[in-house]
Amino acid sequence: MIRDLGDTKPLPVILKPVPDELLSSWITRHADFYGVSPLTMFRHAIPEATSLRQSDTKLGPTADGHIARLFRTQSTAILAMTTSGFPKSAARLVAPRAIQRCTACAEQNRWQGAATAVQRSWIEGWRIACPVCRQRQHDKRERISALASPSSPFEDLWEDALHGERLIRRCPKPFRHDASIDHSTILVHHPWCRRSRF
Ligand SMILES: [Zn+2]
Repeated sequence: MIRDLGDTKPLPVILKPVPDELLSSWITRHADFYGVSPLTMFRHAIPEATSLRQSDTKLGPTADGHIARLFRTQSTAILAMTTSGFPKSAARLVAPRAIQRCTACAEQNRWQGAATAVQRSWIEGWRIACPVCRQRQHDKRERISALASPSSPFEDLWEDALHGERLIRRCPKPFRHDASIDHSTILVHHPWCRRSRF
């Protein structure tokens, strides 16, 4: 049975999302505000949902509309908080949880009362620069990037790495089949790529 969008009742209080916020992060902050679990909050919009992770990666065909109604926003705004539109080359490099962070944005979020907010770029394994402030992302576990400072031996690779970052986001095909793209800079030197198994 196809549910009508009117089945989803909008929340009375909506928290402003931080720039580049991940949908699951926004849902979780609302769950904290209303005193329910994140999955319970997600099920207000999608009763059949089985995990909050679905909100970031696998929204059903009408799910964005139901979530948008719950949070009184537009479907396009909801989709922009997910990885739904990523090309395969980028989607396969999305981590299941935050692996890095932008220190400057995290501090800004904290000042805005959203200290727990997680930005979408923090799960993007190919991302080395913050899309909001353009500062370097830092490995969440080590709190340091392989390209972290001017004294880094990889400093001269920074511009090439930024170029590779842009190519991965745009590339419509899996990168391993595209010989024109040199991803070696990112894949060898990015902290998460060094420890992950694709
Ligand atoms: Zn930032």
